[in-house]
Amino acid sequence: MKKLEGRAVLCLTLAAVLIIGLAVFIFRLETNGGQWASFYANKHIYTNGQLAVGSVYDRDGTLLLKNTKDGSRYNDDPEIRKATLHVVGDKGYNIVTAANNAFRGRMVGYNFVTGTNPILTGSSRKVNLTIDADANVEAYRALAGRNGFVGVYNWKTGEIICMVSSPTIDPAVQADPSSVQSGTYINKVLSAKFTPGSTFKLVTTAAALENIDDINSRTFKCTGSCEIDGEKITCPMAHGTMDIYGALSNSCNCAYANLAVELGGDVMKEYTEELGLTSSYNINGIKTEPGSFEFDTYNINLGWAGIGQYEDQVNPLSMMVYMGAIAGGGKAAEPVLIKNAAKDIIPGSENRASSGSVSLLSSETAGQIKDMMRNNVKTNYGDANYPGLELHAKSGTAETGSGRAPHSWFCGFSGDYAFVVCVEHGGYGAQVAGPVAGRVLQYIQSVRK
Ligand SMILES: [Zn+2]
Repeated sequence: MKKLEGRAVLCLTLAAVLIIGLAVFIFRLETNGGQWASFYANKHIYTNGQLAVGSVYDRDGTLLLKNTKDGSRYNDDPEIRKATLHVVGDKGYNIVTAANNAFRGRMVGYNFVTGTNPILTGSSRKVNLTIDADANVEAYRALAGRNGFVGVYNWKTGEIICMVSSPTIDPAVQADPSSVQSGTYINKVLSAKFTPGSTFKLVTTAAALENIDDINSRTFKCTGSCEIDGEKITCPMAHGTMDIYGALSNSCNCAYANLAVELGGDVMKEYTEELGLTSSYNINGIKTEPGSFEFDTYNINLGWAGIGQYEDQVNPLSMMVYMGAIAGGGKAAEPVLIKNAAKDIIPGSENRASSGSVSLLSSETAGQIKDMMRNNVKTNYGDANYPGLELHAKSGTAETGSGRAPHSWFCGFSGDYAFVVCVEHGGYGAQVAGPVAGRVLQYIQSVRK
């Protein structure tokens, strides 16, 4: 009897292993099938290692890339090619998050049921991106050869309208590898992280509004510098006496470093997590680089971390989504890069539509930060510099410790569009990155309203 039981258990165990194994296989086929099918050995969709099928269009139907048996054909305009390089991809497939890599399954027309059979898959080899090629050109021109990035997305729909990285190259021209600048093959909005400088004060603000009871009745006094644990934190000038609105508008380092110390490392850590800055977003299968932070037990380091320095590293896209959530009363749509992906789902990891929206903060906190960002523009950056945008923004000037000029940041939102802009080693935030953001937003508003 015992022997029989033992055999029965063995049989059941084997059956269970088989069923689990089958389930794992089906799951992996469903999620990875597109990638398996687009494997290089799959001859009929490759010529000399290059994709021979599939095409990429922008949101208005402008052709960005068409793969043929005779090679890849890009848009005729060199500016469009350079401005969209990081979302479309280069001939060497060096940009891992670009459409010609990340959406390969879709471009070869992979389908869960029909595989890559060219007769059965028909016209599904078109990828329509959410980006506006002309908005990308506007951002590329505004960066004017300086290194950096521009990201703009519609926080209501999740559609990424503009995503430009610099340095860039013309993908239609054979590049001499030795002449390609470092950082050329990285989509910085998705895959990089940077010292955020004072844009991070928007995180410290959220933590302060929710954890310090008298925050709105407090006054802050700035003499141009302050000491924490015997070490100095300085402001560009003595900001005088101000409330929390003034502290953010003046971007007062003394006020904010002391707020971070008062809040403590655990609370600061909690807010970087809750606001999505340590998360990786999934954009139609592309995983973004999560940010990273260290909230030290030394108060001086905590103070620097609270004003966006020390070990703070922010991924631009996660900052852009945070801007969207402030605009949206705490909630924002998760970014997407494929147009109408929701209506056109083909099983396969890269074809998943946005999973919806993210809820990052309470509507009350979002409402006040929104007010404060509007106040920044009215009292500091100047509405006259951003006509018609009803801009909400925060600048950042991030010291990189390299002896070079600081990174210039500007982020915020205007209407349905949240944005993040950085000019690396550009100088003072509002003066350098601000006009880049203004120009791109003006353009988008003029064509998308
Ligand atoms: Zn100050």
